[in-house]
Amino acid sequence: MCLGYKPEPNSNGSPYRTFTDPGAKDRPTRDRFYDAEHLRLELAFDLVRKHIGGSATYTLKTLRPLTRVEFDAVDLRVSGVTVNGKKASFTAQAEKLAVELGRTAGDGETLTVAVAYEANPTKGLYFIEPNRAYPKKPRQAWSQGQQEDHKHWFPCWDSPNDRMTHEVILTVPAGCTGLSNGKLVKVTEGKGRTKTFTWKQEVPHVTYLLCVCVGEFAEVKDSAAGIPLGYYVAKPQASMLKPTFQETAKIIRFFSEKIGYAYPYPKYDQVVIADFMWGGMENTTITTITDRALIPASFRPFYDSEPLVAHELAHQWWGDLLTCKNWSQTWLNEGFATYFEALYTEHDRGRDEFLYEMMGNARAYLAEDSGKYRRPIVSPKYDDTSDMFDCHSYQKGSLVLHMLRWVLGEAHWWKAIRHYVHKHQKQVVETTDLKVAIEEATGVHLDWFFSQWLHKAGHPEFDIAWEYDEAARLLRLDVKQTQNTGGETPVFRMPVDVYVETPKSKATHRIQVEEAEHHFYFSCDEKPQMVLFDPDMMVLKTQKFVKPKEELLYQLEHAPTMLMKVAAALSLGKWPGDPAAVAALAATLKSGEFRGLREESARVLGRMGTDNARDVLLVAKDSDPRVRVAIADALGHFEDEKAAARLIELSRDRWDQVAMAALRNLGKTKSKKAFAALSAGLKRNSHNDMVRVGAWTGFKELKDARAVPVALKRGLAPQSLAERNAANACLAALYAETEKTKRGKVRDHFAASLRDVQHQIRRGSMEHLGTLEDPKAVSMLEEAVEREPLNLVARAGRQTLRKLKEKAAAKGDAKEFRREVESLREENRELRNRIAKLEETFGGKNRKKTS
Ligand SMILES: [Zn+2]
Repeated sequence: MCLGYKPEPNSNGSPYRTFTDPGAKDRPTRDRFYDAEHLRLELAFDLVRKHIGGSATYTLKTLRPLTRVEFDAVDLRVSGVTVNGKKASFTAQAEKLAVELGRTAGDGETLTVAVAYEANPTKGLYFIEPNRAYPKKPRQAWSQGQQEDHKHWFPCWDSPNDRMTHEVILTVPAGCTGLSNGKLVKVTEGKGRTKTFTWKQEVPHVTYLLCVCVGEFAEVKDSAAGIPLGYYVAKPQASMLKPTFQETAKIIRFFSEKIGYAYPYPKYDQVVIADFMWGGMENTTITTITDRALIPASFRPFYDSEPLVAHELAHQWWGDLLTCKNWSQTWLNEGFATYFEALYTEHDRGRDEFLYEMMGNARAYLAEDSGKYRRPIVSPKYDDTSDMFDCHSYQKGSLVLHMLRWVLGEAHWWKAIRHYVHKHQKQVVETTDLKVAIEEATGVHLDWFFSQWLHKAGHPEFDIAWEYDEAARLLRLDVKQTQNTGGETPVFRMPVDVYVETPKSKATHRIQVEEAEHHFYFSCDEKPQMVLFDPDMMVLKTQKFVKPKEELLYQLEHAPTMLMKVAAALSLGKWPGDPAAVAALAATLKSGEFRGLREESARVLGRMGTDNARDVLLVAKDSDPRVRVAIADALGHFEDEKAAARLIELSRDRWDQVAMAALRNLGKTKSKKAFAALSAGLKRNSHNDMVRVGAWTGFKELKDARAVPVALKRGLAPQSLAERNAANACLAALYAETEKTKRGKVRDHFAASLRDVQHQIRRGSMEHLGTLEDPKAVSMLEEAVEREPLNLVARAGRQTLRKLKEKAAAKGDAKEFRREVESLREENRELRNRIAKLEETFGGKNRKKTS
């Protein structure tokens, strides 16, 4: 799965340091009582009534003598069950359907259990329809099983540790297409107004990967090495199918060859669906993707969709062909998909782009580690399955594979990967399976590696220094690991390269770090002008390596790797305004160096905040819009009119991305001209409304209360969801500036937003309310979390609540806060009538809480 957003660390609260709530228990793999071998799921869809009806027929084999068979099932209206063709009695409990066999079936006996049922699901299967605010929204039904939501629309084994084949037979309205996993076997016209699609998934996979999509789609056909490819989207967005998915065939060929295992299925479809809550989901042979990921052809070559396309495609092997046995092993799906996404970057865009992407992954993980919590990648304890889908599983997981490749070497790495995929194809896996496969393929035992990187937590925090002994011609390198090794963080062991350059020579030495403190000695012909620790940043770490400015200036220009030039640029930020440092960064920004290095140089100049740094940025031009975005972000560090004037110019850039960045930074300059320029930005149409989003972020930073009435208006339909969310974020941020008499209006607005029919607005509001610093927000949030049907949305609310409470506790007024919340809760009950009225006005709906 691709989240479609980067989990953000707490930016304005005290960091919370525990991954789980106190008292969290181990979540072991679930014991099975039978093996579901095959499912025949036959369903008729009514998109208007949001109703399904039909049957689920399982062929299953018992794994012990059984008198009853249980399925996971929630809110299904079961009308009858047969076992081997004979009527059987059953009971539907809260989350289970129990079928009585009427006798004891022996161990290993094959049974056919058929369940006739109907349902109006609110989870697992989602019905999308136009509403008053969004009348052009397509009518669709699509499923999202991960992590364990399919039990809400068909009886199943809703855990990732059982694999089955299936047939899905979809009867849909005549104008619609019914899509599912595997091979399309036949399409039949129904009498009158229906059509029936029969799909067969012949490679066994786990329950959450079953998928259906129903709707009126535009389709583009393609193929890769004989594999038919299909791209689908609602008809009005058809023109963006090709630019978005044009690289699919290339990516399939690359993965098939590198993994040494040809794409394992008979087809690959990518279906763009409306209102998707995630970025993408790798259902076997049929990936679902958010419509926010669509791109027009004009975005290339600077902005593309390959990361998402490659990520979901990589999952067809890592996640689908081999599946994590339980959610504590999530990284075996997500860490692999994130790394293979980067491997495609390496193949397609070269080593600099690849290493820069890995550096971005390291930054994301380090931000989560320092800002939120630290946990071992394999965490047997977690509160909610969705908690495992974080920067530890994705980004740190990818970095662990990157290090594994480094430790094993290229040939052994690919040999191990190929053995792992062939040995465990069509199976569920846990981390030990990977470790053993590596040992079998290469003879290398990596207990130490798996222990420190996967079962323990954290990363090395190095303190590095060097000294040259002129007389002995010896370079001494001091390497200390300074991390706190209490708790789950160990002292790390890793091979590291050290690069030494003197006026006469260049050499790379490989050292083995394994203790808290080391002194390494290298013979060296002269005093080095540059010493680099881990020049390609292969090891996940933080490091303090204090160097004189002259060495950094030399490093910025002459380092043998792009990442060490970036490191030098970042370190030069410690000399704000220093003429030599500013001149060097200015030269890099103007150079033909890698675009990431130009971006980083601009950002460092911004953080310096000095006049001479600003003057460089004022005249900086770049043909790459990504660098212009960085320049705009850098100018946001200056509260002055010159920076504002340049940002206003950039807000009219041809590229929407640049205009967005210019507007979001314009507010920070506090310029008198900002309000008018931001208001003008609200008039510009752009892809995914990114320019308006930028303008709202600018208003938020400007903290000018004149924006409040405009935001109240634009925070409602019919503006795009993206704009409404940005306007809401602005409203929450301006709350302190809002006149006291008008605050009630803002609170009422959020009360309505928390009940909005669109989950994006509900989720956004749950996040924005964290900035209100009003105890009233807490009681509103508590109620909203309680009634919220979508895990993802409720989770955002829980996180905000946790943040608000910790903030109050940190201020030492927790008791007072609590008392106030209690009294407000009472008040809130009375407010409900008012809210109900507001709902009618804004098109919200009563929503039933389903679990
Ligand atoms: Zn994923």
